[in-house]
Order: sequence, then structure tokens, then C-alpha cells
Amino acid sequence: MGLDWLIIGGGIHGVHIAARLLGESGVTSERLRIVDPGERLLERWRVCTETVGMIRLRSPSVHHLDLSSGSLNQFATKWRRRKRAPVAGSYARPSLELFNAHCDAVVETFSLSDRHIRARATSGAVDHAGVEVELSSGHRIAARNIVLAIGAGEQPYWPNWAPQSHSRVHHVFEQGFDGWPSSRETVAVVGGGISAVQVALRLLREGHQVRLVSRHALREHRFDSESGWLGPKYMRGFRRERDFDRRRTLVNEARYTGSVPPGVRLALCRAVDRNQIGWHEGEVEALEAHGDGLALRLATAEELLADRVLLATGFSAVRPGGQLVDTLIDSAALPCARCGYPIVDSALRWHPRVRVSGPLADLELGPVARNIAGARRAGDRLVAA
Ligand SMILES: Cc1cc2nc3c(=O)[nH]c(=O)nc-3n(C[C@H](O)[C@H](O)[C@H](O)COP(=O)(O)OP(=O)(O)OC[C@H]3O[C@@H](n4cnc5c(N)ncnc54)[C@H](O)[C@@H]3O)c2cc1C
Repeated sequence: MGLDWLIIGGGIHGVHIAARLLGESGVTSERLRIVDPGERLLERWRVCTETVGMIRLRSPSVHHLDLSSGSLNQFATKWRRRKRAPVAGSYARPSLELFNAHCDAVVETFSLSDRHIRARATSGAVDHAGVEVELSSGHRIAARNIVLAIGAGEQPYWPNWAPQSHSRVHHVFEQGFDGWPSSRETVAVVGGGISAVQVALRLLREGHQVRLVSRHALREHRFDSESGWLGPKYMRGFRRERDFDRRRTLVNEARYTGSVPPGVRLALCRAVDRNQIGWHEGEVEALEAHGDGLALRLATAEELLADRVLLATGFSAVRPGGQLVDTLIDSAALPCARCGYPIVDSALRWHPRVRVSGPLADLELGPVARNIAGARRAGDRLVAA
């Protein structure tokens, strides 16, 4: 058997898990690889956060990719000499620039770029001895253990009314996104959460006319779930729940999807009050051609004209992983809940040889599973086991 550990996905989760295995579990670097199709590790994270024009993370500075929880704050102290406000507010939220520089430092410390195989895992089979994975390059790779850290970043959610191959209708999280306006335009941004608002604010900064269309009123929440989900306050009850349908409901109810933190809300409200951004509340029913442009018809009977539509409607809820995960399930009858997501043990084992992190760990780690905090929780569980 070739490797001890193969991590599938080189995003926030895959990189943190790699650091934990190398830094805390005595795994030697020659025996670990990360498979990810990106040119470099963390590519999806960088592209998505840059596209929306994110300036500061929503999460606090203790949520990062290094081993010790104080690492980012220590890094910020040195950084502070050079940059303004690398962390801000009572939760010390890091700037994206600081966070990314710290990610680079983690990648460098553990020489993770040398462990990166630039390919996609397309199918896999597992038995008691290990896992064999087929790559998009045509190679097969064998490992004693794999970690599925594939995220939901490759499955943007497209509303039914939105055509997927229109030159002026784009999802800001689509692969190879190239729909950002290059000259001054009127842009309709669809979505009511933090990404939609950030996109609208970025468009405004760049001189565009912006209309933000949300199907609900602005929802303000500092984080995307209550901080009680990070510890025993809520997680004790969650782990006692043995019905996985019920756990799914708890996760979905606890996540503040489509919400914005106070600072982002304030910036939007200011722009709306000054008539710099148009705020339109209503469900989109249809998109039609209108002269050279587009018209969005809302359920409120309002019609909005725009040169371009940018969707910031988040990610689809279906289980990520496509054929890779389907073939692994088939090879060893891996258990799934009715929502399609893995039923794993407390060490995040879906099988003695298969661990999960990110969305695939939803039913074990709860509402925070997909976030940076979830990557750290997954790291704790893997290392402890
Ligand atoms: C704009 C934005 C801002 C966010 N801000 C925060 C924040 O402030 N704080 C926070 O805690 N969370 C935040 N999140 C949520 C979350 O932390 C990020 O989405 C994070 O990128 C999730 O990491 P991941 O590793 O699960 O997924 P990704 O970053 O999407 O990485 C997964 C990787 O797996 C690869 N992959 C998928 N399938 C395969 C395959 N078959 N073979 C090989 N590789 C594969 C993908 O190409 C990708 O590179 C934010 C999310 C977004 C979109």
C-alpha cells in the first residue's frame, strides 16, 4: 500500500487536516498527499473570497489553519507593524489579507505544496486494507486511509429561473467565473446573505449601478450559527440525538443561512439610504430579455431592468462529492442518512479507512461543520483517534 494518508480536497479543511496529521500525529510527509484540481492549494477559497470582495472574515482570529489556537494572533502581532487593523472588533476578526498570509505560512511550514497532486479524484473503492482512488490524470493511487475534505464550493445553487449558459447571467461561485462587469453597468445581484451584500458593495465601489434582490428581509447575525454550537452548550444535546433525520433538522434550523453580520448590514443600509444601492425584496419568478438587457420579474409584480445578473445564492444542499463519493459508498455499503449525508462515528470514520471533514461531517459536527471552526473540530477528532 503506497501512502498512509490521502486527503481529497485541498481547501480550508484539507489543508488544516494535513497540518494536524503532520504536526500532531507523527505522520511523515512522504506518506501523505493532497489531491486537488487547483493550481495551488486553497484556490477555491481565494477565488470565492476575492470575487465577493471580502475584506474581513466573519469568524474570529482563533479560527485558522495552524495548530495552536493562538497562532494567527501571534502572526498578527508581527503583521501589525506593517498593515493597518489586521484584526478588528471584540471578536478580533482577521482581515482577509492577514488570514491568507497566515494560510501561506501554514502551507510553507508543512511544505504542503510538495504534497499536492493537481488532479481530481473521480472514483474510489475501499476495503479493510485501504482505499484505491482513480484520478482525472488516469493514475490510480492507493492509501491506507483517506480523508474526504471536498467542500461544497463546486456546487453553486442555481435558482430554476436562471439560465446556466447565458453570457450575462452568472453565479459568483461558478467554476472559472468570468462574469464580473468590465465597464459601467446596471447589475442585479440576487441573494440576501453576506456574499450577496458584499458583491453589491464591491460593485458599488467600482462605480456600477446596483440592484440587490433578496427574497427575504435583511437578517442580522454576527456569526452563521450561535457560538453555543462550538462547545457543549448545544453540541451535548446534538450528540445525544441518535435519529439522523432529526440531526439534519437541527443543523438546518441552527444555520443562519442568508444572514449578514452587523458591520456588513450597516454598510448596506447606508448605501441603500443614500440611494446608491437599490434594495428589492421579493422572489424572482422569471428572467426575460428586454431590448439589449434583461428584466427580472418578481412575485411582487415589480420588474427590474439590468445589463447583467449576478447570483450570490450560495451552495446547493445536495451531498457533495458526486461520482467519487457514490463509488465509495457502493464499494463498501457506506451508511447514509435520508438526506444523503454520511453517518460517521465520533472519530469522523465513515469506514475504518475513510474519514470525512466539511459538509460530509454535518451530521456529526453540527452546524459549524463547514466553517473554519469545523475544520478545527475535525482535526481534533482525527488526531484524538
Ligand atoms: C465567500 C466565502 C466567505 C467565507 N467566509 C468564512 C469565514 O469568514 N469564516 C468561516 O469559518 N467560514 C467562511 N466560509 C465558509 C467556509 O469556511 C469556506 O467555504 C471554506 O472554503 C470551506 O472549505 P472546504 O475545504 O470545505 O471547501 P473548499 O474551500 O471548497 O475546498 C474544497 C476543495 O476540494 C476540491 N475537490 C472537490 N471535489 C474533489 C475531488 N473529487 N477530487 C479532488 N479535489 C476535489 C475542490 O476543488 C476544492 O479545492 C466562507 C465561504 C465563502 C464562500
